[in-house]
Amino acid sequence: MHPALAEDLARLPELLQSARDLASRELAGLTERPVVRLDRAPGPPSLPDQGAGTQAALDRFAERWASGFSGSAGPRYLGFVTGGATPASVAGDWLTSAYDQNGSGAVGSWADALERETLGWLRELFGLSAAHSGAFVTGATVSNTVGLAVAREWLGERLGVSVAEEGAGALGAVDVLSGSPHSSVAKALSVLGIGRNRLRRVPVLGGGREAVDVGALDATLAELGGRPTIVVANAGTVNTVDFDDLRAIAALKERHDFWLHVDAAFGAFAALSPAHAHLVAGLDAADSVCVDLHKWLNVPYDAAVQFTRRRDLQVAVFHNASPYLGLPTGDPDFLHLTPENSRRLRALPAWFSLVAYGREGHREIVERNVALARELGDRIEDTEGLRLSAPVRLNVVCFTLDRDPAQDRVDALARAVAESGETFLTPTVFGGVPALRAGFSNWRTTRADVERVADAIASAASAV
Ligand SMILES: *Cc1c(COP(=O)(O)O)cnc(C)c1O
Repeated sequence: MHPALAEDLARLPELLQSARDLASRELAGLTERPVVRLDRAPGPPSLPDQGAGTQAALDRFAERWASGFSGSAGPRYLGFVTGGATPASVAGDWLTSAYDQNGSGAVGSWADALERETLGWLRELFGLSAAHSGAFVTGATVSNTVGLAVAREWLGERLGVSVAEEGAGALGAVDVLSGSPHSSVAKALSVLGIGRNRLRRVPVLGGGREAVDVGALDATLAELGGRPTIVVANAGTVNTVDFDDLRAIAALKERHDFWLHVDAAFGAFAALSPAHAHLVAGLDAADSVCVDLHKWLNVPYDAAVQFTRRRDLQVAVFHNASPYLGLPTGDPDFLHLTPENSRRLRALPAWFSLVAYGREGHREIVERNVALARELGDRIEDTEGLRLSAPVRLNVVCFTLDRDPAQDRVDALARAVAESGETFLTPTVFGGVPALRAGFSNWRTTRADVERVADAIASAASAV
């Protein structure tokens, strides 16, 4: 064994303690560190020839890199829909690395059984029935990709061809219909050989809504003359957190032949709150469902789940069996269900958080975030020079300059907010007008944080 490795092995408990000390110090300072680092990282030194050992690596990291990392796990980072990491999920994540299990399947470990247990709990949390089977993947983009891959295989089944065997060309042109799809859906269609241009926008409801007009969807499906197609419904859009009427869309299946994929990356968490659960009513009718976990479940990157009602088709797409063994049956190992063969045990951080806080604890996070978003919305409405771009429907506040919201002026507002170090928001365009959005999904955020964020935004607005 190399001497640096041998020495580290001899000192392992002490080194883990050192890493723990650094993590504790950083997390203790998280609420007060600048939310983002705007300058660029220094250029890289050359590859080390002689190893320095773990303690020296820790020291070098602390000195050279630690201050360059953002406070995105903290309470006032409101960019995208980011979420933090609960204490239990961090513990689970550390142990995932310590045990270093290969979650590909039943390979002499109970790790895959823990993933199945966690998937069952998540299914229940989101109101899905046992007809949905799931698997962990890295994020909602991959979850959407897996769901749409199964949809593509279903189209093949309807047309009497196996896409998994013959390729996507066997399908001819495919139509994918959606009202306000997330950008990752187009990416998935590119990966799957369906093509970004096959994503057809269906009109949304009027009055500043992002939810699909179900009547228009009905008419578009009718125009296809019975050709099987894919509908991507959206449960929680990124600008205004609008929800398609999932029950009404599912009811269209009585007249039209389509696969229903629901992108509920963070919107699925509405199911945890009795006051908002109606927004995802009908989710269980979906053929495939995408839910992110590194957002509103507050587990560390990276983790999401995908659910489907047609695991047989999923196996047809993703199986890794030797051809002479045929397709796996029964309860297939995860490597036959996901793009990866070898897999990190991503379920463990989620398992820890669900055990530590339960349905009630996670419901409290969701409801607090929603209440705080409303509060910030009220503050922004009362702030001179700003207006809401849309009502605060759930956990995102979308707003812009009251007068002349030109791109350069909204960019200047975003920059001034980021330079305050108090919060970080992401830019968007809503209804053709540049805007900013503040997304609440972090378990640490409190009313005091909303006060600080509102003050920082108001002072930035007064300077633009
Ligand atoms: C965030 C998000 C995605 C993509 O998620 P990643 O985890 O970044 O891959 C897809 N759809 C929606 C609605 C999202 O909010």
